[in-house]
Amino acid sequence: MSTKSFTLSDQLHEYLVRVSVRESSLLARLRKETAALPQATMQISPEQGNLMSLLIKVTGSRRALEIGVFTGYSSLCVATALPPDGSLTACDMSKEYTDVARRYWSEAGVGEKIDLRLGHALRTLDELISEGNSETYDFVFIDADKKNYQGYFERSLVLVKPGGTIAVDNVLWSGKVADPQINDAETVAIRAFNEALAGDDRIDVSMIPIGDGLTIARKKGQF
Ligand code: CA
Repeated sequence: MSTKSFTLSDQLHEYLVRVSVRESSLLARLRKETAALPQATMQISPEQGNLMSLLIKVTGSRRALEIGVFTGYSSLCVATALPPDGSLTACDMSKEYTDVARRYWSEAGVGEKIDLRLGHALRTLDELISEGNSETYDFVFIDADKKNYQGYFERSLVLVKPGGTIAVDNVLWSGKVADPQINDAETVAIRAFNEALAGDDRIDVSMIPIGDGLTIARKKGQF
């Protein structure tokens, strides 16, 4: 699950959220509404959303891309952290879940910043590349189906500027990646993805045990 950092005890998690997470009342409401849905654990943790907002500001990002929107918690964190002239391209398959996201984007006043593209993200990313968007993004967040992580990452590396950031969710997969007894398709895919990034000299990389594990990669080269 990823609605809290699974590596923390409940007590320490509550403490960390209380003293460090600045969650707007709108984000809190979205988190509660999403928690009632059957796939609620797909939502990122509040401390991770907080980190992503900070990353947008620290990197001075203006153009962001999200692969996997769900009900929009992370996109709301990113879009509200972007400058007024910033933009977010948001990719997802589900109209039902992104309808929830759109409601909150609108209420937050960031709907105009967000270009929602429904459809398979591999195809959407190929379209973005063919539309001339290579090396135009500052920040990418990958949080969609795990079997396509490598495909999403390769396309993201094309789309992000040199010096740009790619964050990837669920890389610790509740700890299953480190257990050789567990070999279901998603675990195997994430494990292979992590191994590939470990030896990838096109990027600087760090894996952070927040939420369900977040990898932050920086495409080498100058801004
Ligand atoms: Ca996730």
